[in-house]
Formats: sequence, structure tokens, C-alpha cells
Amino acid sequence: MKDFVAVSHIKKSFGTLQVLRGVSFTIEQGQYVAIMGPSGSGKTTLLQLLGLLDKPDEGDICIGGQSIIPLKGKQEDRFRASEVGFVFQFHELLPELTALENCMLPALIVGKKNDEASALARTLLGDLGLSARLSHKPYQLSGGEKQRIAVARALINRPALLLADEPSGSLDKDSKEELHSLLEEVKNRWGQTIIVVTHDERLAERADRLLLLENGLIVEKEQ
Ligand code: ADP
Ligand code: MG
Repeated sequence: MKDFVAVSHIKKSFGTLQVLRGVSFTIEQGQYVAIMGPSGSGKTTLLQLLGLLDKPDEGDICIGGQSIIPLKGKQEDRFRASEVGFVFQFHELLPELTALENCMLPALIVGKKNDEASALARTLLGDLGLSARLSHKPYQLSGGEKQRIAVARALINRPALLLADEPSGSLDKDSKEELHSLLEEVKNRWGQTIIVVTHDERLAERADRLLLLENGLIVEKEQ
């Protein structure tokens, strides 16, 4: 299988704090990879580099055979919106928008018309078991539902790469299980490559591979 994500010799510092000290790894298309590591080890920093939300100081990141480092401005925005879906720890849904509208946003950003974006979001939310929640606002939804809507929002443009930063970190036990199953379903159903940062051993066990971020470097953990 071809490498879909190739990270080579990534370094990233904040001031004098060197967080990533030469991170390298590759991920095949369709793999589901968990990244674990102590708090403050740079997991969020690494995901943000993969999600084009920040740039490394050194090194290269290729996604789908293309280096994302030189991308700037509109090109970068377009790549981020169409190729990468991001699920944050605290859902980050916009409080004044309904579930449907939140889910539609990335489709509108890539230029879909309102009707088309709405139809796509309805179908996807239906697939994820949220048909009865379309017009609810975030405050009217449970933590688990909010995170499922955040997953739907991340998938609306069918990005090849799904990044999730401690997606079940703020959920209770049952909602955690549901979210873990949802990520597996996404992989099996749509073949997304998934990178999930987690503290949750049970989620990590369900991944195809486990990477550990320690002392600014990535180590493969045999499962
Ligand atoms: P993790 O997600 O593994 O807990 P982070 O990637 O959030 O770790 O942070 C790694 C280290 O980098 C921490 O010490 C954090 O305080 C620091 N850090 C992260 N982002 C910034 C930033 N924008 N400015 C300064 N320091 C940062
Ligand atoms: Mg973090």
C-alpha cells in the first residue's frame, strides 16, 4: 500500500521550548492510527501541523503525495477544507447554529450551494443516527451528540484524512464507547485514513497502529 501521510523530520518550537524534535512516520491509506503520549508532549501541536493549522519550523509533511508545507493563503484554505477533517476535544460547534447548519459549514466554505450543502448534511447526519436532532442547537444536545455532529462536520466534504484530538476526552463512558464505534464505522464505511490522539487505552486498542509521542519523538508501539 502507498503511504498516504508521510511526515519527515518535523521540528517545532515555541520560543525556547522545543516540542517536536525530529518527528518522522508514515501512514498508509485507510489506516486507523492512535497517537498517545503524556500531557504536554506535543500531540495537539503535531495534529495541528497535519491539519494545516500551523507550520513546522523544519521538515516536510506530505498528504496524498503532495507536500503541504509550501501551501499558503487560498490554496492552503482549500486544501484544509477539502482534504482534512478535524474533530476537536471540545466539539467547537458554533452555539448559535443548529446541528444541520454546523454540519453544513465546511461544505459552504468549499463553495457548495446552500441547498446542496443542506442535502449532504441531512444525509450524513441521518447516516450517523442524528436525523431527529437536525434543528437542535448545541446547548440542546448531549455531549455525545455534539461530538457526533462534530464528526459529521469533519466528514461533510469527504476528506481523505480525519484528524481527531482527544475526541472522547470530555465524554462519559457510554458516549465514549459510541464515539469509538463511530470512528471505526467511518473507517469501514468510507475508507478514511484516521489519526486520533487519545489518552484512552480502549480507543487506542481499537486502532490498527499505536504511535507514542515521547520527548519530542515518535515511537511505534507494537500492539
Ligand atoms: P499535548 O497536546 O500533548 O498535551 P501540546 O501540543 O498542546 O501538548 O503542547 C506541547 C507543549 O507546547 C506544551 O508545553 C504547551 O504549553 C506548548 N505550546 C503549545 N502551543 C503553544 C503555543 N501556541 N505557544 C506557546 N507554547 C505552546
Ligand atoms: Mg492536546
